[in-house]
Amino acid sequence: MQLYGEEVLKTLLADSYNGRCCDCGTLLALTLLGQEEPHWVSINNGVFLGDNCARIHRTLGILTSFIRSIPKDSWTDRQLEYLRIGGNKRFADFMQSYDLNAVSPLIKYRTKAAEFYRQSVLVRSLHPLSLRHRSKEW
Ligand SMILES: [Zn+2]
Repeated sequence: MQLYGEEVLKTLLADSYNGRCCDCGTLLALTLLGQEEPHWVSINNGVFLGDNCARIHRTLGILTSFIRSIPKDSWTDRQLEYLRIGGNKRFADFMQSYDLNAVSPLIKYRTKAAEFYRQSVLVRSLHPLSLRHRSKEW
């Protein structure tokens, strides 16, 4: 993993919402190496997940949930940007507005709301770097 990517991920994982699995709330260890609960992310949904829920996500197909391992995989700037823009709290807040947080991940991530959310993260990740960094909103 590149140093830049490692720094970004460490910062993101230090966020208390990202330190728990987005789907089940399991506490994720904060270290990137030798962690008790393996860390996973769903890139296109911009969320952090534990081992069990990542396994469920893999059955959804990569267009619905593209799963990567935090300690094992390498990262492109674009993928890191997805996580910076997204994050567990933003995803949960969005799903809450559709009353979907308690719904099974097998259904939740296949809803039109989730599809819309993924599209919005995608569009935001395409914004020019300078604009993104000036905005405190994210
Ligand atoms: Zn979980």
